[in-house]
Amino acid sequence: MKVPFNDLNRHHEVLIDDIQRVVTETLIRCDFIRGSAIQDFEIEFSKSMGLGETIACANGTDAILIALKALDIGVGDEVLVPAQTWISTGAMVSMAGAKPVFVDIEPTFSVIDPQKIEQHITPNTKAIIPVHLYGNPCDMDAIMQIANNHKLKVIEDCAQAHGTMYKNRPVGTFGEIATFSFYPGKNLGALGDAGAVCSADHDLALRLRRLANHGGLFKGEHLYPGLNSRMDTIQAKVLSLKLPLLKSYISKRQKIALTYINQIKNQKISVPKICHFGEQSWHLFVLQTNFRDNLQAYLADNGIECVVNYKTALPFLPAFSNGTYPSRSYPVAFEQQNRVLSIPNFPEMTELELSYVIDKVNSF
Ligand SMILES: *Cc1c(COP(=O)(O)O)cnc(C)c1O
Repeated sequence: MKVPFNDLNRHHEVLIDDIQRVVTETLIRCDFIRGSAIQDFEIEFSKSMGLGETIACANGTDAILIALKALDIGVGDEVLVPAQTWISTGAMVSMAGAKPVFVDIEPTFSVIDPQKIEQHITPNTKAIIPVHLYGNPCDMDAIMQIANNHKLKVIEDCAQAHGTMYKNRPVGTFGEIATFSFYPGKNLGALGDAGAVCSADHDLALRLRRLANHGGLFKGEHLYPGLNSRMDTIQAKVLSLKLPLLKSYISKRQKIALTYINQIKNQKISVPKICHFGEQSWHLFVLQTNFRDNLQAYLADNGIECVVNYKTALPFLPAFSNGTYPSRSYPVAFEQQNRVLSIPNFPEMTELELSYVIDKVNSF
C-alpha cells in the first residue's frame, strides 16, 4: 500500500467542474487582476473566520512583510520570532531591515514559549510574531499581556492555522494584524500562491491594502512605496469555492488526529497532546522520537510518505547570523528539529490508509 503525505488530486476531484467553470469565467472576463471576486473572497473570509478586514495578497510570506511595513518596523528595530517556524517568519523581519530575535519554543505544542519572551525584550523591541505552528494555538493571553506591558505590536502568523481556536476565539483576532497563506497544501489552499493580511483596525487595514498594491487603493494613487502583492482573480474564485468546505476539512483532520492519538502505542514514539485551552486544526500531525530518521526510512520502505517540519530551527540556519547561535541557547527547538516527523493527515485520507499507517508506526 502507498500512502501519500497529502493528495491534492483527491482534494480537487469533487471541485473540478466548478474550478473549470471559474477559470473559463475569468478567461472570458479577462479580469485576471483585481477582479470583483477578490473583494467577494475578502468579505467571505473575514466573515467565516471572525476576522476584521481581510486584504488579499500574493502569498503568506509577503503578508508578513506587508504587516511589518504597515507597523513601520525597519532598521534598528527588533522583532521576537519563535525559534522553530517556517523560514518566512524570520526572513521577512530581515527583509524589512529589522533584526529577528529568536525565542525558544515550549515543548508540548512547539509554539513560542511565553515564559521565555521577556528575557529577549530590549528598548529596540517593537513586535512579537507568534506562529500558530502545526495548527496549535499559541498562549495568546500570556502573549498579549506581555505585549501590552511592553507596548509591543503583535502579528499572528496564521499560515498553518486557518480554523484554529484559542479559548473559543479564532486565532488571528488577538494581535494588531494576522497573516495567512493559501499555499496549495495549507488547510485552505489555492491552485498556486496566495495569501492574506487581516486587521480589525480600519486605518491599519487601509495601510496594509496600499502596501500590497504599489502604495495606493486605485490606479494613480501612490502614497508610499509598496509591493505588487496581489491575489489573482482565479485564486480568489477557487478559494471562495473551498471556503464553505473548510470546516469539514478541519473536522476530518481532527478526526484523523484523534484516531492517531488513541491508537498509536509505541514506546519509542510520542504523539502530540490535545490542547485543552483551544482547538487544534491539525495542519500537521507531528510525531516525536529519538529514532526519527530510522522511523522515516521504515515508513518510506512501507510506502508511507512523511515530512520533517522543519529540519533546522531558524537560529541555526545560515540565513541568520550565519547560523552561529549555539544550540544551548534554543534547547527545545534544537531537540525537536532532530525528533519531529509529520505523518500523513489530510482530509481525504481513507480509513484503510489510516489504519495502515497506525499499524506501521506501531510495528516500528
Ligand atoms: C506557509 C507558511 C508561511 C508562508 O506562506 P507562503 O504562502 O508559502 O509564502 C509563513 N509562515 C508559516 C508558519 C508557514 O507555514
